[in-house]
Amino acid sequence: MLEVKNIKYSYNADYQALKGVSLKVEKGDMVALLGKNGAGKSTLFLHLNGIYQPDEGQVFIDGEELKYDKKSLLKFRQKVGIVFQNPDDQIFAPTVEEDVAFGPLNLGLPMEEVQDRVEEALSRVGMSGFEKTAPHHLSGGQKKRVAIAGILAMKPEVMVLDEPTAGLDPQGVVDLSILLNELNDEGITIVISTHEVDLVPNYAKKVFVLVDGLLIAEGTPKEIFAKPEILEQANLKVPIVTD
Ligand code: ADP
Ligand code: MG
Ligand code: MG
Repeated sequence: MLEVKNIKYSYNADYQALKGVSLKVEKGDMVALLGKNGAGKSTLFLHLNGIYQPDEGQVFIDGEELKYDKKSLLKFRQKVGIVFQNPDDQIFAPTVEEDVAFGPLNLGLPMEEVQDRVEEALSRVGMSGFEKTAPHHLSGGQKKRVAIAGILAMKPEVMVLDEPTAGLDPQGVVDLSILLNELNDEGITIVISTHEVDLVPNYAKKVFVLVDGLLIAEGTPKEIFAKPEILEQANLKVPIVTD
């Protein structure tokens, strides 16, 4: 349902950050993109949300090629929401509820519907009661939840999360893994990136390994984590596989 075909992208003439990446994410999947710092994970994710336009290659949702005019992008981002690595890049409204309302308001939904969606999304991520709080007074884990609520309020098909566990303490990683797993069970397709081989990839049905702008492997976590040479090539440490 979400597919990228042979994406190439350079920030400047000296270095190609993506060298021809193709991947397919099936409806309902939970997949993880593994790669060390600088591998190109964020660059790829910014393409998955149509924020960057590839030099070559295409992005498809439900078989339809993404176009880069404003109307197509709005439609696309209704289906595919991105949660940035740093919530401070995403949260900007004075209060939590205004922040979560931004997406649905942008869709032009009636106020009552917006209000319902905000309440439902905050409740879903365990942040009811924080409606009037200034986001900047929240902890890192709480901000992450507000950012996720902002995407849920769009009723997305796919949620793309760039390094969602970065900066969280071990309990925060467990809690987030559980939430993402539940959202996936509820039908949302989940794509995460990480350079830490933590709990989240263990939950994934499929793992992709990115090295220097190229995918070098894909498979179940079990298959990938059983091949030390892949992890070594990707410069990732061998995880504890929970199964
Ligand atoms: P990752 O998310 O896996 O750490 P990135 O996608 O951020 O990797 O970066 C991939 C490569 O592109 C790196 O070499 C990085 O230095 C380079 N890069 C990322 N963003 C920019 C930018 N805005 N301008 C120039 N180079 C960039
Ligand atoms: Mg990085
Ligand atoms: Mg990154």
